[in-house]
Parts: sequence; structure tokens; C-alpha cells
Amino acid sequence: MTQQTLSRLADHLREAHHVAALTGAGISRESGLPTFREAQSGLWARYRPEDLATPEAFARDPALVWRWYAWRRSLVSDAEPNAAHYALARLEEEAPHFTLITQNVDGLHRRAGSRQLLELHGDITRFRCARCGRYAPTDDLPDEGPPSCDCGGLLRPDVVWFGEALPGAELEHAAEAAAECDVFLVIGTSGVVYPAAGLTGIAMRNGARVISINPDASAAPAGAVQLTGNAADLLPRLVELAYSA
Ligand code: NAD
Ligand code: ZN
Repeated sequence: MTQQTLSRLADHLREAHHVAALTGAGISRESGLPTFREAQSGLWARYRPEDLATPEAFARDPALVWRWYAWRRSLVSDAEPNAAHYALARLEEEAPHFTLITQNVDGLHRRAGSRQLLELHGDITRFRCARCGRYAPTDDLPDEGPPSCDCGGLLRPDVVWFGEALPGAELEHAAEAAAECDVFLVIGTSGVVYPAAGLTGIAMRNGARVISINPDASAAPAGAVQLTGNAADLLPRLVELAYSA
């Protein structure tokens, strides 16, 4: 895409009263974290996500699911936020009103300084009891299998598994932001996991300009302006153009 397209989009960003952004695994790619499909590589290649990220999988083999998350957690703790995460933290400071909606569970947005953050799928570094729901401290957790809560239930990662409901209040806020915003950024998501993917449609129907940032042009929702490339490259350029006048 041309510098001209970027400047035009930067103008829209600067003029917007409310900017909302929806991020997915692709924004953390440049931090070295595999996307969902890629996370099936290496040691874990023989498992499908459906076999690991479901309540049924946890009931069947809690130790297996726990070990997969322990591995993903170790990747997250070795990773750092990248330029795209920092650009969104800056956007929060510059835009009159800003809402960040993420499907990621890696906590990198918070580590980059974002505060107006709706984590629709939870956080891989938090734990709660699968039976009573109580939150548990995060230090001294074993890698081999889930420890037990005082109630006798097993601890599980505080993430939303396939087949589970998203946190209602967060989803409601996200839908409100999508409906109200002037510009809706869709960054690094394949847009196939609902209900998060439905937010783009809400934004569009309510007249927002939708901008998609993804190296895979086919991932862009119909009707979106496409910026084809890496988020860590394009997003900082866009934000810099919009607010450094
Ligand atoms: P996805 O893996 O389905 O899609 C990733 C998208 O990112 C793809 O469209 C890909 O083309 C794009 N992408 C790849 N590199 C990119 C880059 N450098 N810049 C911008 N885009 C890039 O991920 P999803 O849409 O988030 O949905 C899958 C589910 O996986 C989510 O529910 C999420 O909770 C979970 N997940 C989260 C993490 C994480 O927290 N980092 C990692 C893996 C999976
Ligand atoms: Zn309990």
C-alpha cells in the first residue's frame, strides 16, 4: 500500500472522536508468540486445539491440558510487547476516546501500557478453580499437572475455552464500543472465532470506517480498507502519521 493511503487513514484516525481496535494472535506474532494454528507445532503437533482448549479435554485429561498451557505460559513470559502493542498504548493516550478489545490471552497489551482493555478470552497467566471459581495465586505452580483448590476442585487457566461463554460485561462493552466508534481497527485476527468476529459487523453497520491490518489480504472483512502487512510495521507508522503534527 502507498504512503498516500496511510496518510489518508491517519487523517481519519486523527479526526475520530472514538477509536476502537480488535486484536488477535497476529499482533503478538512479532513478539515471537505462535498464532493458534502455529501453536500446534513441535511437541504439540499431534494435538488439535479442539483436543486441548475445551472443558471436555480438561475433564478427560487435566494434566495434558495443564502441560500445554504451562508451555504456552513459558513462551509468554519470555516474550516482550512489540511496536504494535506500544502503538495501541499511544493511541489510547492520543485519541479522545479509545477502546481496545483483544482475543489474546498473553497479557502483552497490559505490559505495553494499555489500560482501556477488554480481554474477551481471559488471561493465560491467571488461574481459577474449575469447581468453585475462586481465583488462585500465580506463583509456585507446578508444570506437570493442576494443583487442587481448598474445595477439592482443580485449578485451570482463566481463559475462555471452545464451547464456553465469553465474559458478559466485557462483551457488552465491546459491542457498545463497536457501535459507537468512528474508526474500528481489526488487527491480526482471522475473524473466524465468534462472537468476537461479529464486532466488526456491528462497527460497519453503525457507520464506522473499518481498517484491517493483516499480512494475509484474504483475512480482511468485506468492506474494510486493507493495510496488507505486519502490524508491528504498519500500526506504528499509522499512529505516528496521525498524531505527530
Ligand atoms: P488466528 O491464529 O486465527 O489468526 C491470526 C491472524 O493473524 C491471521 O489472520 C494471520 O494472517 C494474522 N497475522 C499473522 N502475522 C501477523 C502480523 N505480523 N501482523 C498482523 N497480523 C498477522 O488468531 P485469532 O484470530 O486471534 O483467533 C484464534 C484464537 O486463538 C483466539 O481466540 C485467541 O484467544 C487465541 N490465541 C491467542 C494467542 C495470544 O494470546 N497471543 C495466541 C494463539 C491463540
Ligand atoms: Zn475451589
